[in-house]
Amino acid sequence: MSLRLVGNIPAAIGVLDLQGGVHEHLEHLERLGVAYKRVKQVGDFTNLAGLIIPGGESSCISRLLNFFGIKDVLLESHRRGMKIWGTCAGAILLARKVVGETACLNLINITVERNGFGSQLDSFVSEAILPDVAAEPIPLTFIRAPKIIDAGPDVKILLKIDDYIAAAENKSVLVTVFHPELTGCLALHRYFSSKCGLNPAISGNNYIDPLWKNSSWTKYAGI
Ligand code: GLN
Repeated sequence: MSLRLVGNIPAAIGVLDLQGGVHEHLEHLERLGVAYKRVKQVGDFTNLAGLIIPGGESSCISRLLNFFGIKDVLLESHRRGMKIWGTCAGAILLARKVVGETACLNLINITVERNGFGSQLDSFVSEAILPDVAAEPIPLTFIRAPKIIDAGPDVKILLKIDDYIAAAENKSVLVTVFHPELTGCLALHRYFSSKCGLNPAISGNNYIDPLWKNSSWTKYAGI
């Protein structure tokens, strides 16, 4: 395993563990061979090269960030260089503007519309090529996803479909409205690890793990 060292300690990617799809991200990071850890409280923000804010319910995660006093340390860690990736609800929390609501973290210059595709029943799967991430199509899973309806000039669009942006980034923040952690594809996790300055053990193009099952993350549930 090749890890960037901070002092003598390997820098890890944290997964914000307040609510939502935490385990699926942990499993992908383990498969990728990068150091990872759960981030539940202020003291967990040490040695983080990056943080994943998972999908779930953005209004709930936002309240828990305030309730546990984590919001300030998250923003301070970001100022000090920690990269952040938000999937779905995580993307909503990172946005500068949320239609009809108050924004939470305001770390990327995008406007999002929550539940832009409709209800849970309007969830769907698709696939697309994200040329910056991998040369082959990546499976996309949209679950009551938001639409990114606008992005500022400082934001790079990684995937646009029809009238909405599905993936974008600035220098320190990556957002995807879909869920790569709910497929066997590690391409986005590898991309984020590289953005964090870590070298994933698994390289290659669009790496799809043949051993992945949609229930394989459950082994983390009791930890
Ligand atoms: N609809 C949810 C929200 O507004 C996001 C759904 C998800 O993360 N899959 O927070």
